[in-house]
Amino acid sequence: MKTIGIIGGMSFESTLSYYQGINELVRKNLGGLNSAKIALLSLNFEEIAKLQRENKWQESAEILSKAALSLEKIGVDFILIATNTMHKVLPIITQQVKTPFIHIAESLGEELKNNNIKKALLLGTKFTMSESFYKDILQNFKIETIIPNNEEMEIVNSIIFDELCQGKVLEDSKKKYLQIIESYKEAEAVILGCTEIGMLIQEQDCKIKLFDTTKIHIKKAVELALK
Ligand code: GLU
Repeated sequence: MKTIGIIGGMSFESTLSYYQGINELVRKNLGGLNSAKIALLSLNFEEIAKLQRENKWQESAEILSKAALSLEKIGVDFILIATNTMHKVLPIITQQVKTPFIHIAESLGEELKNNNIKKALLLGTKFTMSESFYKDILQNFKIETIIPNNEEMEIVNSIIFDELCQGKVLEDSKKKYLQIIESYKEAEAVILGCTEIGMLIQEQDCKIKLFDTTKIHIKKAVELALK
């Protein structure tokens, strides 16, 4: 079994899902007392979120690169960055780190393609929804993304940072997300493009198919670890 490196803590709420999800899937595959080989390096999210707010991406890339180099030193076989947003700085990190990364948006692109989805609503942080670093990768898989309007984007983003990343899962916010989802009838699927959104909405909450990037990333990591 290969050793999975995780750069987590962004936020720790979703890193919990990664730790549990990866271990459960390994047990499902191998049975008994089997569990995943994981090296987790968990960051202080306030430091990272502050740099995001101040648009200091180079500095945040340095923190993540340092974390990745520590995981490399331990000897992990590959690395997951347990957040969609911070994949924005992956091209900077890979200049210094030799260990391969499993890109969350590439794993998602493969999954959407395998399910024959061509047009999907993207929900995530305002960085993920409005900038090109994430959508461009999906476009390589010939997937067109629809993003919410500015007002909705503000709602989606603030629920992530002010609530989900702080462990608050509120019924009212779930309603707001579902309302937004239901208003984009042209979408064939919805991308939960933030690793915390799965805390708020799940498959049974809506008719449209959901693609939860946390689950997809976990599935890809376990596939590779057990290969
Ligand atoms: N975990 C979130 C994501 O998947 C947001 C936290 C962050 O800004 O890194 O994008």
